[in-house]
Amino acid sequence: MKIIAVNAGSSSLKFKLFDMPEEKKLVSGVVERIGLKDSIFSMKQNGETVKEIVNIPNHTVAVNLLLKRLVDKGIVDSLDEIQGVGHRVVHGGESFKDSVIIDEDVLREVHRLSDLAPLHNPANLVGIRAFQKALPDVPAVAVFDTAFHQTMEPVEYMYSVPYEWYTKYGVRKYGFHGTSHKYVSIRAAAMLEKPLDELRVIVCHIGNGASLCAIKDGKSVDTSMGFTPLAGIAMGTRSGDIDPAIVQFISEKEGKRLDEVISELNRKSGYLGLSGLSSDSRDLWEAVERGDQKSILAVEKQAKMIADYIGAYFIQLGGCDAICFTAGIGENASETRKLIVDRLGALGVELDYEKNLSRGKETVISKDTSKIKILLIPTNEEVMIARDTMRLMNQN
Ligand code: ADP
Repeated sequence: MKIIAVNAGSSSLKFKLFDMPEEKKLVSGVVERIGLKDSIFSMKQNGETVKEIVNIPNHTVAVNLLLKRLVDKGIVDSLDEIQGVGHRVVHGGESFKDSVIIDEDVLREVHRLSDLAPLHNPANLVGIRAFQKALPDVPAVAVFDTAFHQTMEPVEYMYSVPYEWYTKYGVRKYGFHGTSHKYVSIRAAAMLEKPLDELRVIVCHIGNGASLCAIKDGKSVDTSMGFTPLAGIAMGTRSGDIDPAIVQFISEKEGKRLDEVISELNRKSGYLGLSGLSSDSRDLWEAVERGDQKSILAVEKQAKMIADYIGAYFIQLGGCDAICFTAGIGENASETRKLIVDRLGALGVELDYEKNLSRGKETVISKDTSKIKILLIPTNEEVMIARDTMRLMNQN
Protein backbone atom coordinates (compact mmCIF):
# COMPACT_ATOMS: atom_id res chain seq x y z
CA MET A 1 0.00 0.00 0.00
CA LYS A 2 1.44 3.40 -0.97
CA ILE A 3 1.01 6.27 1.48
CA ILE A 4 2.23 9.83 1.02
CA ALA A 5 3.30 11.90 4.04
CA VAL A 6 2.84 15.63 3.55
CA ASN A 7 4.09 18.69 5.41
CA ALA A 8 2.60 21.88 4.00
CA GLY A 9 3.94 25.30 4.97
CA SER A 10 2.82 28.73 3.80
CA SER A 11 5.10 28.71 0.75
CA SER A 12 6.40 25.15 0.73
CA LEU A 13 5.20 21.58 0.59
CA LYS A 14 7.35 18.60 1.56
CA PHE A 15 6.38 15.04 0.74
CA LYS A 16 7.60 11.48 1.13
CA LEU A 17 6.03 8.47 -0.50
CA PHE A 18 6.21 5.14 1.34
CA ASP A 19 5.41 1.56 0.56
CA MET A 20 3.60 0.38 3.69
CA PRO A 21 3.71 -1.59 5.91
CA GLU A 22 7.33 -2.20 4.83
CA GLU A 23 8.07 1.50 5.49
CA LYS A 24 10.13 1.60 2.33
CA LYS A 25 10.76 5.16 1.18
CA LEU A 26 10.11 5.39 -2.56
CA VAL A 27 10.70 9.06 -3.14
CA SER A 28 10.83 12.36 -1.28
CA GLY A 29 10.65 15.93 -2.44
CA VAL A 30 9.82 19.50 -1.76
CA VAL A 31 8.10 22.36 -3.55
CA GLU A 32 9.52 25.69 -2.43
CA ARG A 33 8.64 29.34 -3.11
CA ILE A 34 4.98 28.50 -3.87
CA GLY A 35 3.20 31.69 -4.93
CA LEU A 36 6.49 33.44 -5.70
CA LYS A 37 8.37 33.68 -8.98
CA ASP A 38 10.71 30.84 -9.87
CA SER A 39 9.26 28.21 -7.58
CA ILE A 40 11.50 25.18 -7.09
CA PHE A 41 10.33 21.60 -7.36
CA SER A 42 12.85 18.99 -6.29
CA MET A 43 12.48 15.27 -5.96
CA LYS A 44 14.94 12.72 -4.62
CA GLN A 45 14.89 9.13 -5.75
CA ASN A 46 17.61 6.53 -5.17
CA GLY A 47 19.95 9.23 -3.86
CA GLU A 48 19.59 11.38 -6.96
CA THR A 49 17.90 14.80 -6.82
CA VAL A 50 16.16 16.36 -9.82
CA LYS A 51 15.34 20.07 -9.66
CA GLU A 52 12.94 22.11 -11.77
CA ILE A 53 12.38 25.85 -11.68
CA VAL A 54 8.74 26.55 -12.61
CA ASN A 55 6.08 29.03 -11.64
CA ILE A 56 3.81 27.43 -9.05
CA PRO A 57 1.15 29.97 -8.07
CA ASN A 58 -0.56 27.94 -5.35
CA HIS A 59 -0.62 24.66 -3.41
CA THR A 60 -3.15 23.03 -5.76
CA VAL A 61 -0.76 23.50 -8.68
CA ALA A 62 2.08 22.21 -6.50
CA VAL A 63 0.16 19.03 -5.63
CA ASN A 64 -0.90 18.41 -9.23
CA LEU A 65 2.69 18.82 -10.40
CA LEU A 66 4.15 16.46 -7.83
CA LEU A 67 1.49 13.81 -8.52
CA LYS A 68 2.13 14.13 -12.25
CA ARG A 69 5.86 13.67 -11.70
CA LEU A 70 5.25 10.51 -9.64
CA VAL A 71 3.55 9.03 -12.73
CA ASP A 72 6.02 10.53 -15.27
CA LYS A 73 8.98 9.05 -13.42
CA GLY A 74 7.28 5.68 -13.13
CA ILE A 75 7.30 5.80 -9.32
CA VAL A 76 3.61 4.86 -9.51
CA ASP A 77 1.90 3.40 -12.59
CA SER A 78 -1.26 5.33 -11.80
CA LEU A 79 -2.41 7.64 -9.00
CA ASP A 80 -4.87 4.93 -7.88
CA GLU A 81 -1.89 3.28 -6.21
CA ILE A 82 -1.77 6.06 -3.59
CA GLN A 83 -4.19 4.79 -0.97
CA GLY A 84 -3.66 7.25 1.84
CA VAL A 85 -2.42 10.77 2.53
CA GLY A 86 -1.01 11.72 5.93
CA HIS A 87 -0.78 15.42 6.76
CA ARG A 88 1.35 17.00 9.43
CA VAL A 89 -0.79 19.53 11.31
CA VAL A 90 0.94 21.72 13.86
CA HIS A 91 -1.78 22.48 16.39
CA GLY A 92 -4.41 20.07 17.62
CA GLY A 93 -5.12 21.99 20.85
CA GLU A 94 -6.93 19.91 23.45
CA SER A 95 -9.28 18.56 20.78
CA PHE A 96 -6.93 16.00 19.24
CA LYS A 97 -5.14 13.55 21.51
CA ASP A 98 -4.27 11.26 18.60
CA SER A 99 -4.11 11.40 14.83
CA VAL A 100 -7.50 11.43 13.12
CA ILE A 101 -9.16 10.67 9.77
CA ILE A 102 -9.90 14.02 8.14
CA ASP A 103 -13.54 14.98 7.57
CA GLU A 104 -15.31 18.35 7.47
CA ASP A 105 -15.67 18.46 11.29
CA VAL A 106 -11.94 17.92 11.69
CA LEU A 107 -11.17 20.66 9.17
CA ARG A 108 -13.47 23.07 11.01
CA GLU A 109 -11.73 22.33 14.29
CA VAL A 110 -8.23 22.71 12.78
CA HIS A 111 -9.39 26.03 11.37
CA ARG A 112 -10.75 27.10 14.77
CA LEU A 113 -7.39 26.25 16.33
CA SER A 114 -5.64 28.65 13.92
CA ASP A 115 -6.08 31.15 16.72
CA LEU A 116 -3.36 29.23 18.59
CA ALA A 117 -1.11 28.64 15.54
CA PRO A 118 -1.82 31.50 13.12
CA LEU A 119 1.25 30.82 10.96
CA HIS A 120 0.92 27.07 10.71
CA ASN A 121 -2.63 25.69 10.84
CA PRO A 122 -3.94 27.77 7.90
CA ALA A 123 -1.01 26.59 5.75
CA ASN A 124 -1.63 22.98 6.81
CA LEU A 125 -5.30 23.40 5.81
CA VAL A 126 -4.35 24.72 2.37
CA GLY A 127 -2.22 21.59 1.85
CA ILE A 128 -5.07 19.32 2.94
CA ARG A 129 -7.56 21.04 0.59
CA ALA A 130 -5.13 20.79 -2.33
CA PHE A 131 -4.80 17.01 -1.88
CA GLN A 132 -8.57 16.67 -1.43
CA LYS A 133 -9.02 18.28 -4.83
CA ALA A 134 -6.39 16.14 -6.52
CA LEU A 135 -7.26 12.83 -4.82
CA PRO A 136 -10.90 13.23 -3.70
CA ASP A 137 -11.51 9.56 -2.94
CA VAL A 138 -8.33 8.86 -1.02
CA PRO A 139 -8.60 8.88 2.81
CA ALA A 140 -6.51 11.54 4.53
CA VAL A 141 -5.25 11.61 8.10
CA ALA A 142 -4.10 14.54 10.25
CA VAL A 143 -1.10 13.92 12.50
CA PHE A 144 -0.67 16.66 15.10
CA ASP A 145 2.59 17.98 16.55
CA THR A 146 0.82 18.56 19.85
CA ALA A 147 -1.09 15.26 20.23
CA PHE A 148 1.70 13.25 21.88
CA HIS A 149 1.91 15.80 24.70
CA GLN A 150 -1.78 15.59 25.58
CA THR A 151 -0.86 13.04 28.27
CA MET A 152 0.71 15.80 30.40
CA GLU A 153 -0.93 16.42 33.79
CA PRO A 154 -2.32 19.85 34.77
CA VAL A 155 0.63 20.44 37.09
CA GLU A 156 2.88 20.27 34.01
CA TYR A 157 0.74 22.04 31.43
CA MET A 158 -0.83 24.83 33.52
CA TYR A 159 0.98 28.13 33.91
CA SER A 160 0.85 29.85 37.25
CA VAL A 161 -1.34 32.71 35.94
CA PRO A 162 -5.02 33.70 36.41
CA TYR A 163 -6.96 30.46 35.89
CA GLU A 164 -9.48 32.12 33.54
CA TRP A 165 -6.72 32.61 30.93
CA TYR A 166 -6.92 28.84 30.53
CA THR A 167 -10.70 28.43 30.65
CA LYS A 168 -11.44 31.45 28.45
CA TYR A 169 -8.59 31.32 25.96
CA GLY A 170 -6.83 27.95 26.27
CA VAL A 171 -3.61 29.43 27.64
CA ARG A 172 -1.56 26.39 28.71
CA LYS A 173 1.50 24.44 27.63
CA TYR A 174 0.81 22.39 24.49
CA GLY A 175 4.30 21.40 23.34
CA PHE A 176 5.37 20.59 19.78
CA HIS A 177 7.63 18.14 17.86
CA GLY A 178 5.45 15.37 19.36
CA THR A 179 5.71 13.12 16.31
CA SER A 180 9.51 13.22 16.50
CA HIS A 181 9.64 12.69 20.27
CA LYS A 182 7.34 9.69 19.96
CA TYR A 183 9.30 8.14 17.07
CA VAL A 184 12.63 8.56 18.87
CA SER A 185 11.30 7.03 22.11
CA ILE A 186 10.07 3.99 20.17
CA ARG A 187 13.51 3.59 18.55
CA ALA A 188 15.21 4.03 21.95
CA ALA A 189 13.21 1.10 23.33
CA ALA A 190 14.22 -1.00 20.31
CA MET A 191 17.90 -0.09 20.72
CA LEU A 192 17.83 -0.89 24.44
CA GLU A 193 15.78 -4.06 23.77
CA LYS A 194 13.34 -3.10 26.53
CA PRO A 195 9.58 -2.53 26.40
CA LEU A 196 8.78 1.15 25.92
CA ASP A 197 6.25 1.04 28.75
CA GLU A 198 9.05 0.28 31.22
CA LEU A 199 11.38 3.07 30.14
CA ARG A 200 12.11 6.63 31.22
CA VAL A 201 13.74 8.60 28.44
CA ILE A 202 14.60 12.21 27.73
CA VAL A 203 14.54 13.15 24.04
CA CYS A 204 16.52 16.20 22.91
CA HIS A 205 15.18 17.25 19.49
CA ILE A 206 17.74 19.89 18.49
CA GLY A 207 17.27 21.29 15.00
CA ASN A 208 16.66 24.84 13.96
CA GLY A 209 13.62 24.55 16.23
CA ALA A 210 14.41 22.60 19.38
CA SER A 211 12.60 21.00 22.29
CA LEU A 212 13.08 18.40 24.99
CA CYS A 213 10.58 15.80 26.11
CA ALA A 214 10.43 13.66 29.23
CA ILE A 215 8.81 10.33 28.40
CA LYS A 216 7.67 7.73 30.94
CA ASP A 217 6.17 4.40 29.89
CA GLY A 218 5.86 5.71 26.33
CA LYS A 219 3.91 8.81 27.37
CA SER A 220 4.99 12.45 27.29
CA VAL A 221 5.01 13.75 30.86
CA ASP A 222 6.61 17.12 30.13
CA THR A 223 8.13 19.08 27.28
CA SER A 224 10.06 22.32 26.95
CA MET A 225 8.05 24.21 24.31
CA GLY A 226 4.93 25.82 25.69
CA PHE A 227 1.85 27.71 24.57
CA THR A 228 3.91 28.46 21.45
CA PRO A 229 7.21 27.07 20.14
CA LEU A 230 9.04 30.10 21.55
CA ALA A 231 9.42 28.60 25.02
CA GLY A 232 12.04 26.24 26.40
CA ILE A 233 15.64 26.05 25.25
CA ALA A 234 17.48 28.54 23.00
CA MET A 235 17.21 27.63 19.31
CA GLY A 236 18.52 28.79 15.91
CA THR A 237 16.58 32.06 16.05
CA ARG A 238 14.30 31.67 19.11
CA SER A 239 15.23 32.81 22.59
CA GLY A 240 13.63 30.00 24.57
CA ASP A 241 12.63 30.93 28.14
CA ILE A 242 13.11 34.56 29.17
CA ASP A 243 11.57 36.88 31.73
CA PRO A 244 8.37 38.07 29.97
CA ALA A 245 8.79 41.56 31.45
CA ILE A 246 11.65 42.07 28.97
CA VAL A 247 9.07 42.27 26.19
CA GLN A 248 7.44 45.44 27.49
CA PHE A 249 10.77 46.95 28.54
CA ILE A 250 12.26 46.57 25.03
CA SER A 251 9.01 47.70 23.44
CA GLU A 252 9.27 50.99 25.37
CA LYS A 253 13.02 51.46 24.89
CA GLU A 254 12.99 50.78 21.15
CA GLY A 255 9.55 52.16 20.35
CA LYS A 256 8.43 48.84 18.93
CA ARG A 257 5.02 47.20 19.15
CA LEU A 258 4.69 44.09 21.33
CA ASP A 259 4.27 41.86 18.28
CA GLU A 260 7.49 43.27 16.82
CA VAL A 261 9.40 42.42 19.98
CA ILE A 262 7.90 38.92 20.05
CA SER A 263 8.92 38.55 16.42
CA GLU A 264 12.51 39.42 17.38
CA LEU A 265 12.37 36.75 20.08
CA ASN A 266 11.21 34.28 17.41
CA ARG A 267 13.43 35.33 14.50
CA LYS A 268 16.38 37.33 15.77
CA SER A 269 17.35 35.57 18.98
CA GLY A 270 18.93 32.25 19.95
CA TYR A 271 22.12 31.37 18.03
CA LEU A 272 21.56 34.28 15.64
CA GLY A 273 20.88 36.83 18.36
CA LEU A 274 23.80 36.04 20.64
CA SER A 275 26.39 35.38 17.92
CA GLY A 276 25.24 38.20 15.64
CA LEU A 277 26.45 35.88 12.90
CA SER A 278 24.15 33.04 11.94
CA SER A 279 21.31 30.80 13.03
CA ASP A 280 23.04 27.80 11.49
CA SER A 281 24.98 25.53 13.79
CA ARG A 282 27.66 24.79 11.17
CA ASP A 283 28.49 28.49 10.78
CA LEU A 284 28.61 28.89 14.53
CA TRP A 285 31.00 26.00 15.06
CA GLU A 286 33.30 27.42 12.38
CA ALA A 287 33.29 30.72 14.25
CA VAL A 288 33.92 28.90 17.54
CA GLU A 289 37.02 27.32 15.96
CA ARG A 290 38.25 30.84 15.16
CA GLY A 291 37.72 31.77 18.82
CA ASP A 292 34.72 34.06 18.21
CA GLN A 293 33.56 34.90 21.74
CA LYS A 294 29.90 35.61 20.95
CA SER A 295 29.54 32.34 19.05
CA ILE A 296 31.11 30.48 21.97
CA LEU A 297 28.56 32.16 24.26
CA ALA A 298 25.70 31.22 21.90
CA VAL A 299 26.50 27.51 21.82
CA GLU A 300 27.33 27.38 25.54
CA LYS A 301 24.12 29.17 26.50
CA GLN A 302 22.05 26.65 24.56
CA ALA A 303 23.97 23.71 26.05
CA LYS A 304 23.42 25.08 29.56
CA MET A 305 19.70 25.48 28.99
CA ILE A 306 19.44 21.94 27.62
CA ALA A 307 21.47 20.48 30.51
CA ASP A 308 19.30 22.32 33.03
CA TYR A 309 16.13 20.89 31.46
CA ILE A 310 17.68 17.40 31.48
CA GLY A 311 18.38 17.81 35.20
CA ALA A 312 14.78 18.87 35.85
CA TYR A 313 13.39 15.98 33.80
CA PHE A 314 15.68 13.50 35.58
CA ILE A 315 14.02 14.55 38.84
CA GLN A 316 10.56 14.57 37.31
CA LEU A 317 10.94 11.07 35.84
CA GLY A 318 12.47 9.76 39.09
CA GLY A 319 15.58 8.66 37.18
CA CYS A 320 16.31 8.04 33.54
CA ASP A 321 17.33 5.10 31.34
CA ALA A 322 18.37 7.01 28.23
CA ILE A 323 19.02 10.50 26.90
CA CYS A 324 18.45 10.65 23.13
CA PHE A 325 19.76 13.20 20.65
CA THR A 326 17.93 13.82 17.39
CA ALA A 327 17.24 16.34 14.54
CA GLY A 328 19.79 18.35 12.47
CA ILE A 329 22.06 19.36 15.33
CA GLY A 330 21.35 16.45 17.68
CA GLU A 331 22.15 13.95 14.92
CA ASN A 332 25.18 15.68 13.43
CA ALA A 333 26.88 18.13 15.74
CA SER A 334 29.13 16.02 18.00
CA GLU A 335 30.52 19.25 19.50
CA THR A 336 27.06 20.29 20.73
CA ARG A 337 26.36 16.85 22.22
CA LYS A 338 29.71 17.00 24.03
CA LEU A 339 29.00 20.46 25.44
CA ILE A 340 25.68 19.25 26.82
CA VAL A 341 26.78 15.90 28.20
CA ASP A 342 29.90 17.38 29.82
CA ARG A 343 27.49 19.32 32.05
CA LEU A 344 25.74 16.17 33.24
CA GLY A 345 28.54 14.70 35.39
CA ALA A 346 26.36 14.90 38.52
CA LEU A 347 24.02 12.32 36.96
CA GLY A 348 26.88 9.84 36.42
CA VAL A 349 26.65 10.24 32.67
CA GLU A 350 29.78 9.44 30.66
CA LEU A 351 30.12 10.18 26.98
CA ASP A 352 32.34 7.97 24.82
CA TYR A 353 34.14 10.69 22.87
CA GLU A 354 35.13 8.31 20.10
CA LYS A 355 31.57 7.00 19.54
CA ASN A 356 30.24 10.53 19.86
CA LEU A 357 31.90 11.31 16.52
CA SER A 358 29.21 9.18 14.79
CA ARG A 359 26.67 11.04 12.69
CA GLY A 360 23.23 10.37 11.36
CA LYS A 361 22.92 6.71 12.36
CA GLU A 362 21.53 4.98 15.44
CA THR A 363 24.45 4.65 17.88
CA VAL A 364 24.98 4.25 21.61
CA ILE A 365 27.43 7.06 22.33
CA SER A 366 27.87 6.63 26.10
CA LYS A 367 30.55 4.55 27.82
CA ASP A 368 29.53 1.13 29.15
CA THR A 369 30.03 2.51 32.68
CA SER A 370 27.65 5.47 32.14
CA LYS A 371 24.69 5.46 34.54
CA ILE A 372 22.41 6.68 31.76
CA LYS A 373 22.69 5.49 28.16
CA ILE A 374 23.16 8.22 25.60
CA LEU A 375 21.68 7.46 22.20
CA LEU A 376 22.00 9.13 18.83
CA ILE A 377 18.77 8.48 16.91
CA PRO A 378 17.94 10.08 13.54
CA THR A 379 14.33 11.19 13.65
CA ASN A 380 11.77 10.23 11.05
CA GLU A 381 8.54 12.18 11.43
CA GLU A 382 7.36 11.20 7.95
CA VAL A 383 7.40 7.48 8.69
CA MET A 384 5.35 8.14 11.86
CA ILE A 385 2.83 10.04 9.71
CA ALA A 386 2.66 7.12 7.27
CA ARG A 387 2.27 4.64 10.15
CA ASP A 388 -0.55 6.62 11.74
CA THR A 389 -2.27 7.02 8.39
CA MET A 390 -2.22 3.26 7.84
CA ARG A 391 -3.31 2.53 11.43
CA LEU A 392 -6.33 4.84 11.21
CA MET A 393 -7.30 3.63 7.75
CA ASN A 394 -7.26 0.05 9.03
CA GLN A 395 -9.41 1.01 12.03
CA ASN A 396 -12.01 2.68 9.83
P1 ADP B 1 14.41 22.24 11.30
O1 ADP B 1 13.77 20.95 10.79
O2 ADP B 1 13.96 22.65 12.66
O3 ADP B 1 14.40 23.37 10.31
P2 ADP B 1 16.85 20.67 11.21
O4 ADP B 1 16.47 19.54 12.09
O5 ADP B 1 17.00 20.42 9.76
O6 ADP B 1 15.96 21.95 11.48
O7 ADP B 1 18.25 21.24 11.76
C1 ADP B 1 18.91 22.32 11.19
C2 ADP B 1 20.20 22.56 11.96
O8 ADP B 1 21.00 21.36 11.91
C3 ADP B 1 21.06 23.68 11.41
O9 ADP B 1 21.55 24.50 12.47
C4 ADP B 1 22.22 22.93 10.78
O10 ADP B 1 23.42 23.67 10.81
C5 ADP B 1 22.33 21.73 11.68
N1 ADP B 1 23.12 20.69 11.03
C6 ADP B 1 22.78 19.91 9.98
N2 ADP B 1 23.83 19.15 9.62
C7 ADP B 1 24.84 19.44 10.47
C8 ADP B 1 26.19 19.02 10.65
N3 ADP B 1 26.70 18.11 9.86
N4 ADP B 1 26.92 19.54 11.65
C9 ADP B 1 26.41 20.47 12.46
N5 ADP B 1 25.15 20.93 12.34
C10 ADP B 1 24.39 20.43 11.38
